[in-house]
Amino acid sequence: MRVTPCQAALAGAISLNLLLLFCAWRGPGRSPASCRPPRGVPGVTVLLRDFEDFDNDLAGTARSFASLPVPVLVAAEAAPYPPVPLPAGVRLLPLHPVADQPPPLAHPELHVRTRHVALVPDGTRAVPGLLERMRDTLERGPGDTRLVAAPVGSVPLRCLELQLEPRVWTARYGTGAPGVCRAVEGTAVLLLRTRDLFTLPFPLARPVPTAIFVQAVLRGWGLRVVPAAFPASRRPPVSPHNHWKAENLAESRRRRLMRDLGIKREVLADGRERWYGCGKETARCFGTVHARTPQYLLAGRWTPPCCLRALRETARHVVGALEAAGVRYWLEGGSLLGAARLGDIIPWDYDVDLGIYQEDMGKCRWLAAAAAGEPVEDAEGFLWEKAAEGDFYRVHYSRSNRLHVDLWPFYPRGGVMTKDTWLGHPQDVEFPESFLQPRVPMAFAGFTAMAPNNARAFLELKFGPGAIENPEYPNPDVKRLGQD
Ligand code: ZN
Ligand code: MG
Repeated sequence: MRVTPCQAALAGAISLNLLLLFCAWRGPGRSPASCRPPRGVPGVTVLLRDFEDFDNDLAGTARSFASLPVPVLVAAEAAPYPPVPLPAGVRLLPLHPVADQPPPLAHPELHVRTRHVALVPDGTRAVPGLLERMRDTLERGPGDTRLVAAPVGSVPLRCLELQLEPRVWTARYGTGAPGVCRAVEGTAVLLLRTRDLFTLPFPLARPVPTAIFVQAVLRGWGLRVVPAAFPASRRPPVSPHNHWKAENLAESRRRRLMRDLGIKREVLADGRERWYGCGKETARCFGTVHARTPQYLLAGRWTPPCCLRALRETARHVVGALEAAGVRYWLEGGSLLGAARLGDIIPWDYDVDLGIYQEDMGKCRWLAAAAAGEPVEDAEGFLWEKAAEGDFYRVHYSRSNRLHVDLWPFYPRGGVMTKDTWLGHPQDVEFPESFLQPRVPMAFAGFTAMAPNNARAFLELKFGPGAIENPEYPNPDVKRLGQD
């Protein structure tokens, strides 16, 4: 009997369907190994990832673990240069995509065949049985255990608490209770299931420990520490130049990692802080705001902490300049709302708004200069300019970082404060001048600013009843608070 290609294809399709049906029938609890992706062979593959091209112990570390013997893989963007004489059997996993090759990590099981993988710091020496002990700790630990750490060298690991607050772009470390770690301080070998490692969006990002701890916390993975240590190799002292080079590279890698992980502020266990967001020399963290809804709100996040800090600094600077010049100003709109609610900028706001008496403008030399037409940078690098959108003024954090304070000139007419430019926002309305007679001091953004008397009545006139008690995003038609 001759089989046509069409019949063959049909037979193939039927067999595949029968196989799928069989898998479904066996149910998820009892699914046979043949219906799942391969789980790998028992064992631990050593991955060497954190090392410097120009100064490393790669050959020694690889040789030590390869002699156990376990599979050893060197993962690097490209082959180390200058070349490293790797022992026989130790392979290189190039991570940088190359146009005529398959994507490097599309099929990690092609590179790592074992069920477990250990991320081993450069300069570590193998100890027979310790990788297996780590693996047993992982598999026999409490149900949430997905990560095991062991120290390298004579210093024990320090257990740290780690909390992530993605909405405010923050990672917060603390002193962990004994036995409960989310991260460790100190050089460590990290062991996890191969499958787990390669389900992470950044499986081999550097620095490896930070990248793994953060992604593990986001998934609720438990971390166990094994006290037994791997020895560290004795290495010649690093030259000052290489030390400097390594520090610089480490810093730029840390910045890249934080950008990838969406972290702009780390609060360390000792209270120190590390900032990764915008500064005076950089651009603002978010682009032009459309429909009063900045892009971070659409991404389910609030104002980056670096931006809030720069806004506070700009507001304090502008208020200082206005007060020194005798310009009467007051907290307006969302800024007054923030002052009334929490004495600060609303945590999702993107600018600061101040009203000013139009007739006072000439008293401030920077405002007068901006009104004359040209943007002007003051002595501290803040940029004052007339807004392109109408008769109001902006003071930017710097020429490159356009976080700003808006200054809205009002003038009295028959006991009512009015102005010439209206942007059509619901809160953009005239109000009785009596709110400014007198103005009153109010805590705002870490200093004291002047505000309309009876802030509540002023805010309810502008935003409607209950404005202080019922927070809402600037444009609920686009995105509402609590929608995430
Ligand atoms: Zn920023
Ligand atoms: Mg505003």
